[in-house]
Amino acid sequence: MPNEFEPYVDEFFYQAQLRGHDLNKEDFDFSITLKDIEDPSASGLCYFDGNRIVIDEPSWIRKNEQEKEHIIFHELGHCLLDRNHRKVKTTNNECYSYMRGRDRDIDEDDFSCSLNLYSSKWRTYYLDELFDTGTSFPFWYYESRDFPKIENQPNYILSWQDTLVERFEISDIDFSNLNNFLVEVDFDITNTESISFRISLGDIQFGGCPKCTVSTVEIKKASNILYESERLGLPSNYKLSILKREKIVSFFFNDQFLHAVEFDLFDGNEFNFRSSRDAINKLNVNVLEF
Ligand SMILES: [Zn+2]
Repeated sequence: MPNEFEPYVDEFFYQAQLRGHDLNKEDFDFSITLKDIEDPSASGLCYFDGNRIVIDEPSWIRKNEQEKEHIIFHELGHCLLDRNHRKVKTTNNECYSYMRGRDRDIDEDDFSCSLNLYSSKWRTYYLDELFDTGTSFPFWYYESRDFPKIENQPNYILSWQDTLVERFEISDIDFSNLNNFLVEVDFDITNTESISFRISLGDIQFGGCPKCTVSTVEIKKASNILYESERLGLPSNYKLSILKREKIVSFFFNDQFLHAVEFDLFDGNEFNFRSSRDAINKLNVNVLEF
């Protein structure tokens, strides 16, 4: 096995043991090799016959650490844990498992769902599920899905609106020291040439591209995608909300829950809104603490 796979394989067995599974590398006969896989949709394969894992070299080279770990864990899931693909997702497009995928011989349609490889809370859940398929979504996730009913006199830190806005920035709110907060941005995209928009809080961006051919809403940390929604219709009114409650941050699109992560994942305090190409007719921004 090439050396570069070793840290991921060792981590796989370490994570299994942390969860009380008596799995040891020495007890398994398996191999991992790098090769060009002809099928462009496959970045790895497991041949059960001989437990041979093949990783596609061109796509391996392009992957970051987290993606490399995911593909190795996924293939070890097939070859060593005898797991099949788990083709189920939540209504908001969240994968239940690292074992997402398509079975080339059976499935005509591609199965896709959104996997967050960059949050330690999500990684813990996905590893729990990898070694125990009976694992359900964590409690913190279920608790984070409700749009807040804010009582107890919220403190409006900012309430701003204007017309024909392309950019909006706030740098004087110390979000990291706010207790619980809600940031809401809403706007109307009728009669605008703007093709995409995003709000950023620190290094996390949340936005969409309503006029793209595939219109989705994405949450990113730098260039890494934490979450991607399914294809959306083209509403004329957009409302993006970022809610911090306890130590969890939830993201909502038009009051519908999309995704949640730990606040520790955020880095930085600046908040801004950007629309590309053209101004937004009317923009409202509210920030409140509660
Ligand atoms: Zn697979």
